[in-house]
Amino acid sequence: MTIRVLPSRLIDQIAAGEVVERPASVVKELIENSLDANATQIEVEAEEGGSKLIRVRDNGVGIAQQELEIAFSRHATSKIFDLDDLENILTFGFRGEALPSIASVAQVNVISHARGEEFGWAIDSSGSPEMEIRQASHPRGTTVEVRDLFFNIPARRKFLKKQRTEFAHLSAVVRNLALARFDVEWSLKHNKRSVLSLESALDREGQEGRLVRICGEKFLEHARYFQKEIEGLRLSGWLTEPTFSSGQANMQYTFVNGRYVRDKLLRHAIRLGYQDVLFHGRHPAYVVFLELNPRRVDVNAHPAKLEIRFRDSRLIHDFIFHTVEAVLGRTLESQQSKSIRPPTALKSLTKSNEVPLVSGSAGISQRTLHLGLDSSNEKTNDTFGDTLWTVMHSVEKKDDIPPLGFALGQLLGVYILSESADGLNIVDMHAAHERVTYERLKKALVHDRLKTQPLLIPLSLSVAEHEADMVDSASDELSQLGFEVTRRGPEEIQVSGVPMILHSAEVEPLLRDVLSDLSQQKGLERIESTINDILATMACHGAVKANRHLEIKEMNALLREMEKTEKSDHCNHGRPTWTRITISELDRLFKRGQ
Ligand code: ADP
Ligand code: MG
Repeated sequence: MTIRVLPSRLIDQIAAGEVVERPASVVKELIENSLDANATQIEVEAEEGGSKLIRVRDNGVGIAQQELEIAFSRHATSKIFDLDDLENILTFGFRGEALPSIASVAQVNVISHARGEEFGWAIDSSGSPEMEIRQASHPRGTTVEVRDLFFNIPARRKFLKKQRTEFAHLSAVVRNLALARFDVEWSLKHNKRSVLSLESALDREGQEGRLVRICGEKFLEHARYFQKEIEGLRLSGWLTEPTFSSGQANMQYTFVNGRYVRDKLLRHAIRLGYQDVLFHGRHPAYVVFLELNPRRVDVNAHPAKLEIRFRDSRLIHDFIFHTVEAVLGRTLESQQSKSIRPPTALKSLTKSNEVPLVSGSAGISQRTLHLGLDSSNEKTNDTFGDTLWTVMHSVEKKDDIPPLGFALGQLLGVYILSESADGLNIVDMHAAHERVTYERLKKALVHDRLKTQPLLIPLSLSVAEHEADMVDSASDELSQLGFEVTRRGPEEIQVSGVPMILHSAEVEPLLRDVLSDLSQQKGLERIESTINDILATMACHGAVKANRHLEIKEMNALLREMEKTEKSDHCNHGRPTWTRITISELDRLFKRGQ
């Protein structure tokens, strides 16, 4: 075989294989060029899913007459000049690859009227090497038309899907970029019909309006805006409540310095922030922007630049994870502040376990809380599953009503009804108790290990051999979790102690589930998330079951405990734990005062 240098057209076609996969990728490259040219209005038109025609028109700086031709040469770019520029990149493009690649697999026609020039100029690639430039009228800016994609590569053309599918990909690209750039005005047409048209959105209200158009009304209803900044990292955007999660990961938008990316590290960090509140196999929905010094990220890691590399990935991962976790953890607090003043009295009460609060002021005679819920003070003579929870309150003063109010009773053995300052609260007692127990378990584990409650009579269990093996190989983990288990035979184990917090749970199913979790998760690197999964399993066993009769004081104790528990408005499967019907909603329902 002889070695030969490939003809430049073939080189371009090979490069096109990486950059131009389908009409959507052409649209992405063209729009990114428009954004790099500082356009504030971008119109995209497509015919037949984009395979017949793609036209992108912008009002950017334009391309000067003498540069039109060179724009089509390989490695010709106006965006970087040296290595330092490459490491400090803020433009979308920099490889100088898109136009020549696209022109090698389609008919491309560019008309541009550059800033400071008298006329517009047009150039037609149409496959010929000597492209002719002619004068053409065009408002300031650039229009790029791409016709008959893959006309010269039948094998690629065959792989294009139906119009509808190709257009769906194309329109997803436009939507992604429209989320990346709220300041730009967008329009999208397919087969001459308008599909999307978005005004520029400079304030939060306008941005949320755009979110509704792109992610749907439901998204915004469940979303919460946040922003957080540390050490040159800024994270902002909208996170939806876990209840909004979906079976598909199709509403997860991540942007780094304005670039839409599908980056594993980002998604993993966000997912981890949601893990405690999300049901297995569900995907959270979010729009998240990360901004940082471009030197801290390498965008030159993927031909379509969808993946990136962070230089200090661990730090960035943890920053995102902790921020998301904190935002979600605040949900209950901020819901309360919407309707009721912050529970100051309660907060100071719950700082320690037993604080008699004597206040001379109107109505409050005395209030004592024995929550006994911290690991430091686990009581065993319980009334509510496992702990002594007594709340004595004699409160007459209206503003002293805590956020979740005071219990009225139990509904059908499943829900607790409570009255608060502005209405009726309905609490799913199992879900709520599960969340509270889970957070307690986590907290106790952070301090040290879970305390063990010895069983009066040790319990022998026959288990599968691999489960018995687990008792040997995971004995450290088990004792850290508060279990005292020993192996008695090839398929027999003996339990002589269980975690004190869960001592009233049924031992056998609890231990079986924990063993099965352990054996599924053995060998996973992230012990953090593994342990939390096991704690979630344990919490479920420890939580009060439906149809269990509760005393009013037990109900109140649970409500108070929810108020001081992080993320207590969702159970660890992501279902809500409580809801509220406000008095005005009730009035509307009964047409009072109308
Ligand atoms: P890159 O974007 O990597 O620089 P491209 O092949 O996409 O490479 O574009 C080549 C050059 O053509 C760009 O660097 C830019 O100077 C010019 N260009 C392309 N599209 C536009 C546009 N819409 N407006 C202004 N200039 C453009
Ligand atoms: Mg480009």
